[in-house]
Amino acid sequence: MDIIVATKNKGKIKEIKKILGDHNVMSQAEIGVNIDVDENGTTFAENAMLKAAAVAEHTSCAVIADDSGIEVDILNGAPGIYSARYCGEDATDEDRVVKLLEEVENAENRGAQFACAMALILPDGEKHIFEGIVRGTLDFESKGANGFGYDPIFIPDGYDKTFGQLSSSIKDEISHRAKALKALAEFLNK
Ligand code: IMP
Repeated sequence: MDIIVATKNKGKIKEIKKILGDHNVMSQAEIGVNIDVDENGTTFAENAMLKAAAVAEHTSCAVIADDSGIEVDILNGAPGIYSARYCGEDATDEDRVVKLLEEVENAENRGAQFACAMALILPDGEKHIFEGIVRGTLDFESKGANGFGYDPIFIPDGYDKTFGQLSSSIKDEISHRAKALKALAEFLNK
């Protein structure tokens, strides 16, 4: 199936193309759609659907959109849906990692999770949401250059390395996005 991914995030596009390898996945840029969506929803699922709906107006293909972020236990789930905007609009991934490490500097409880909601809009307008979570802990410093975003400080449960250090094939097996995409792929293959 032809599927358009409604995102400009190159890290997400790379992961989604790999995990949905059975399908012809194209980014919004590849079909000439250049839009930014005001993410004013209150949940990952709402924001994912807003992004998918905005791109679906420009194509007759199926559209998927991911909204995701990191939720830190002692910060009551922050930054959550604000993960990309944590530290201001012009900040880099590195700035956000530094800020989050500062927030949890002396904390013993370093529990956290990545959460992902994947919205799907089919060519006939049918809408679905698929969700995934991966639990882990926050490291004390940034390690590794794989992945993107908060990967260099997130150690998934069952491992002793960050997503920044682990291979992309491991992340693509166990991540929040992988879980949401596997549910989506199962649905499409039904
Ligand atoms: P979104 O584009 O509004 O969904 O923002 C998601 C933000 O959450 C990203 O910019 C990252 O900062 C963070 N994030 C989401 N998924 C991941 C991941 O797999 N690894 C690291 N950071 C992630």
